[in-house]
Amino acid sequence: MNILVTGVAGFIGSNFVYYYLKKHPEDSLIGFDALTYAGNLDNLTNIPEGEKKRFHFLKGDITDPEQIRVVFNRWNIGGVINFAAESHVDRSIHDPGIFLKTNILGTHSLLEVAKESWCNNGTWDKKNRFLQVSTDEVYGSLGPSGFFSEQTPLDPHSPYSASKAGSDLIVKAYHDTFGLPILITRCSNNYGPYQFPEKLIPLIIYRALNNQSLPIYGDGRQIRDWLYVIDHCSAIDLVFHKGELGEIYNIGGSNEQENIKIVQMILSILRDLTDDQNINDNLITYVRDRPGHDRRYAIDSSKLKLELGWKPKTKFSDGILHTVKWYLNNPEWVNNVISGEYLSFYQNNYREC
Ligand code: NAD
Repeated sequence: MNILVTGVAGFIGSNFVYYYLKKHPEDSLIGFDALTYAGNLDNLTNIPEGEKKRFHFLKGDITDPEQIRVVFNRWNIGGVINFAAESHVDRSIHDPGIFLKTNILGTHSLLEVAKESWCNNGTWDKKNRFLQVSTDEVYGSLGPSGFFSEQTPLDPHSPYSASKAGSDLIVKAYHDTFGLPILITRCSNNYGPYQFPEKLIPLIIYRALNNQSLPIYGDGRQIRDWLYVIDHCSAIDLVFHKGELGEIYNIGGSNEQENIKIVQMILSILRDLTDDQNINDNLITYVRDRPGHDRRYAIDSSKLKLELGWKPKTKFSDGILHTVKWYLNNPEWVNNVISGEYLSFYQNNYREC
């Protein structure tokens, strides 16, 4: 099958490409990405020689249905996995409009073209699948106890999470109204290689290595449930192939950590690895809390575990050590991202859709 994977040049999309090509030699991936500031083709340069012929990259915008139509027709797309999104909460506070456009209208373009292509006189071939990659942030914020289940009412607080909730709802509506074979996954915070250094973990690593202050929102005691990115990829793969159509699956690491604890853990790992004693808690600077900042996220992923047999494989202590080492060992990647150099790399190496 040819699967259209959007957002492949981003953090999770690129990790997914590596995971999927290796696991499924029977399939080809058509990677599609607008290469916004968050999209980086450097993320895809390590595809093994033997797998390269099953991966094709196209630069394109999910908000343009014409471009998507061309891809569906040219590549006979049998499945869609939609990672493409504006994904940074802070940016959504400064400029909500692009979040609504990409996350809601972009998802709608993909749904509409999938419907046109896959629906044959009102009947659907059940091998076609449209998987929407969503987030636990659509559920809002928890108090000190309890977990988000798939039945938890949507209660998003930021323009980012509201736009993701909107895209989930339009995906579900295409299933309920037209019968489009959809699946939705909602995952907790991811960490791992290739994450853009505006997000907490790579930001702290980068700034600490450069002896810069580490800005921490509020009291730093916000709780997130952290999952290693490859464990997220394995869950998406499983839901895509084995999930029940029309269903939502939560994905989480059962690994709640306060932000400040994450920061202290990274500082301690970095100090051990570099022997630089200036990397210490004195770098931490508390800043005014983010407006509408959710206090605690915690995911109940028992549906995915019990029905499909998924479980995360990576212990947090191993995953975070591996992640810190990856950023330390790839200073060129970090510097290119920071300098925006990868944009000129693209102009020299790839063509428009
Ligand atoms: P990211 O910001 O690293 O990557 C997003 C990618 O989408 C980028 O490559 C960007 O160029 C591309 N993109 C943006 N607008 C586009 C458009 N109009 N057309 C085509 N491509 C476009 O994000 P990420 O962290 O990899 O997240 C991927 C998905 O997973 C998102 O949908 C996000 O909501 C979801 N998610 C992320 C996390 C997390 O912790 N990072 C957790 C749960 C769910």
